Amino acid sequence: MAAEEENCGNFEERVLKLVEAGYETVAREAIACTRCPLHKSAIRRVIGKGSFNPKVFFIGEAPGKTENETGIPFYGRAGKQLDKMVEYMGLSEEDWFVTNTVKCRPPENRRPKASEIECCKPFLVAQITLLDPKIIILLGNTAEKSYCPERKLEWGVPVEHEGKTVLKLYHPAALIYTASKIEVQRAFIDKNRELWQ
Ligand code: URA
Repeated sequence: MAAEEENCGNFEERVLKLVEAGYETVAREAIACTRCPLHKSAIRRVIGKGSFNPKVFFIGEAPGKTENETGIPFYGRAGKQLDKMVEYMGLSEEDWFVTNTVKCRPPENRRPKASEIECCKPFLVAQITLLDPKIIILLGNTAEKSYCPERKLEWGVPVEHEGKTVLKLYHPAALIYTASKIEVQRAFIDKNRELWQ
């Protein structure tokens, strides 16, 4: 289904309105959103979790089963892995925030489609603008497709993108399935510590 048929609306206009209205409105509108078909099967909208004054803003892929039930991002197994990663990074609770490319769970745990990501992106960009983190960490390729769709970043190598420092790291779920990636991820973190310290 084309993005227009999904009623994504004008991107810049939507972001501007959301930013002007403030964070509470971003959350309220995301909870009420029916712009793409994902809302039809969602139990809870998963808006985000963490500090409202974060140094690090993590972008995951999409809510899974437990996130859909609880409304909390990274609640399940991948969340435990993210917690370990955050600990290794030396971040405390007030240092970070996490959300996903889409706020509703895609059915059957499939990846979100490009059109769904596009429809949900104004919420993501408004959150980033309002929370104004030092660095954005893309957790995996879907986050990259959402936040910098026209670029292909190297894992663990920071870039400047639209006035923000952006770093692509492995998705925590990838660390569960491929344990050898844990050491590589730690090396990426070690190389980039000054970005959030
Ligand atoms: N949970 C989330 O909220 N996002 C993911 O990408 C994976 C698990």
